[in-house]
Amino acid sequence: MASRSNVRTEMGSLVSKKKQPPPAKGDSSSTPQAAGSPASPPAAESEVKDQGVSTPAALPDEKVNKAPPQEGGAEEVMVDDESPVTVTQTPVAVALKCAVQQYAWGRIGKDSEVATLTQACDPSFQLKEDEPYAELWMGTHVKGPSIVEGQEAKSLKDWIADQPDCLGEKVRSKFNDQLPFLFKVLSVNKSLSIQAHPHKALAETLHAEHPENYPDDNHKPEMAIALTPFEGLNGFRPLIEIDNFLKTVPEFRAVVGEDNADKFTAELEAGGSDSKNVLKDCFTELMTRDPEFVKEQLALLVQRLQAEDSETGKNRELLLRLNSQFPGDVGCFCSFFLNHMTLQPGEAMFLGPNEPHAYLSGNCMECMACSDNVVRAGLTPKYKDVENLCKMLTYLPSPAQDRLFPSVTDPGDACVTIYDPPVPDFAVARIKVAEGVESYEVTAYDSASIFITISGQAEASHPSFGNGKTLTLKRGSVIFMSANHSLPLKLEKADGLLAFRAYCPLD
Ligand SMILES: [Zn+2]
Repeated sequence: MASRSNVRTEMGSLVSKKKQPPPAKGDSSSTPQAAGSPASPPAAESEVKDQGVSTPAALPDEKVNKAPPQEGGAEEVMVDDESPVTVTQTPVAVALKCAVQQYAWGRIGKDSEVATLTQACDPSFQLKEDEPYAELWMGTHVKGPSIVEGQEAKSLKDWIADQPDCLGEKVRSKFNDQLPFLFKVLSVNKSLSIQAHPHKALAETLHAEHPENYPDDNHKPEMAIALTPFEGLNGFRPLIEIDNFLKTVPEFRAVVGEDNADKFTAELEAGGSDSKNVLKDCFTELMTRDPEFVKEQLALLVQRLQAEDSETGKNRELLLRLNSQFPGDVGCFCSFFLNHMTLQPGEAMFLGPNEPHAYLSGNCMECMACSDNVVRAGLTPKYKDVENLCKMLTYLPSPAQDRLFPSVTDPGDACVTIYDPPVPDFAVARIKVAEGVESYEVTAYDSASIFITISGQAEASHPSFGNGKTLTLKRGSVIFMSANHSLPLKLEKADGLLAFRAYCPLD
């Protein structure tokens, strides 16, 4: 097999660090199917190409178990290039059809990465030029379940339930046989609400007290990785920046309150040891002000800024933009409190529990714990829970550049960049295979993963697909990969590959 690639990774060669992508114990090719459940057919014909009898060339040394074996059990048969065996085991990877969410804040028509990704791989998708396409959901969440291609509308959740071993042992035991993360593509045209996500204990309390507003009891840490320049508000600005706005923007000072503003400045001058409380007082005062007074002051500010043409230090462009999207909304003033950042492609931010944030514009990959708990307080027509938001926030100021989440190159595979936040629920790998490379192996992890191709084209092969069939990876295609199996790829046009893969990084 001709290969100019030097990127194939050795199983188990990853250097141990805090939370690596989980190297598998080895690609056993044993089916992840549960005992007693029937074998499933391979994925849909639309996604699986029959390569004929001369393949699977990409798997010269892979063993195939003829029948679904139990641990340490069954008969093994080498795949013979000339006479491939017909395998009826459950495929170790399946193509998914994923839900598109058309929220009003989504990017419009072809401007939306969500829309063009879906259009590129789903011939039945009708892209409408004047409609918003906000999110692509990859996972098992009930509000947008992914469907396994070619399985008669079987949801990924049901497919996993049929063979829970596909999750990997650690995920099975820690997350009770559920896929713990939800993976998304976001295309943001208009600001999302100012929000924060509760930590686990608060999520449980909120759910118990107000199940109508807090539909589940799970925490919801989330991470965004930019696909295009991606803009958001994230965490409290350094105190000195907020103080500067309080001194130079009289309307902002008015809604925060003269007393609070004075205390804020005094605290800062005294060294800031009690900064958390004064920051909380100022923010809470703004958020709980009479909405009419806020509207009035915002109108004055907008009028004043429109008459000026200088941006310098005044947050002018953002404030005018937010006000044009949500006229009179208190959330516009939040931009004086929160860091305004623009991620470049490949850069990430992580939103831990109780950190205020709002996505403003651009396209990104997003991964989160599988939950829907959001506490909102501005820039939204949805239910606002100002009291809980003001109570729960961390009030930890820090500069915008400190809010960039660092990624690391996988020491075992230079094509892989790892974004591994300090939560057990998920991590994301960015896989970038250079132009000209003809083959690449998607490493086996000891957790199930979801893999989306952003650009490039490849054929994935595995004996479990049956009869030398392959799974096509191309722009927009999404596959679920079972734990403990690697996936050899043959890159079709030698134009490289960019993909993102969400998984569960348990030690
Ligand atoms: Zn959020």
